[in-house]
Amino acid sequence: LNPKAATTELLQTPHSSNEILCIKGVRRGFSKAQEDLLVLDDVNLTLREGEIVGLLGRSGSGKSTLLRIIAGLIQPTDGHVDYLGKPLSGPAEGVAMVFQTFALFPWLTVLQNVEAGLEAQGVGANERRQRALAAIDLIGLDGFENAYPRELSGGMRQRVGFARALVVDPTLLLMDEPFSALDVLTAETLRTDLLDLWTQGRLPIKSVLIVTHNIEEAVFMCDRILVLSSNPGKVIAEIQVPFKHPRNRLDPAFRGLVD
Ligand code: ADP
Ligand code: MG
Repeated sequence: LNPKAATTELLQTPHSSNEILCIKGVRRGFSKAQEDLLVLDDVNLTLREGEIVGLLGRSGSGKSTLLRIIAGLIQPTDGHVDYLGKPLSGPAEGVAMVFQTFALFPWLTVLQNVEAGLEAQGVGANERRQRALAAIDLIGLDGFENAYPRELSGGMRQRVGFARALVVDPTLLLMDEPFSALDVLTAETLRTDLLDLWTQGRLPIKSVLIVTHNIEEAVFMCDRILVLSSNPGKVIAEIQVPFKHPRNRLDPAFRGLVD
């Protein structure tokens, strides 16, 4: 036994198989008006299988920047991002994103928008259609396949956004303030529907990261909440959401006992 080697091994954090995402020491700056702006500084976070994690922070704290790094759309200035135990280099298969402003193609129907989620994956036309219809059905959009986004309410449009993300069977779902463009009641309905699908095990997702500045939403949706400071963005607190939080309303055992 080589004691030195053994020590080195102990010092390295082993990759546990339930780790979906592991971020260590991520920094990211931007040059703005000839000044260097440090947006994220030494961000560390781990997402494990079966978790919904919230990223809570003020506007401008770097939440979207962090999501874009995880989505592989931009690179960190420093630090490591491991996805499924391997360093991330660009957009990874199995990572899908839902945007605040839905980001639908206005010239495409609901069905075509959802199929577009599969375009980059080289899936054949038949399978694309089948999977898009299944995602549309799952998210409660059946009957709207041939509608255009402009004919839909905000809530229905965001359902299309969800269907387009779900159609790829994502391992990791990233959501950037997915409910903040919706009115209070619509947001609540959509949050509840989504959580319902998640708790019933009907979503093909292993882990979810939700960016929000709404603490009530974070407590309702998440198992764990990370709080990001501003200037620069740093994870300054981690909150484990206690057992008896409102989410248990979705548990069949609680149905009828609360409300
Ligand atoms: P949040 O999503 O928390 O509101 P963002 O990640 O969008 O915050 O932005 C954090 C900061 O980084 C802001 O000050 C923003 O102006 C700046 N920023 C984001 N993207 C860029 C960019 N491409 N170029 C310059 N500055 C940027
Ligand atoms: Mg943002």
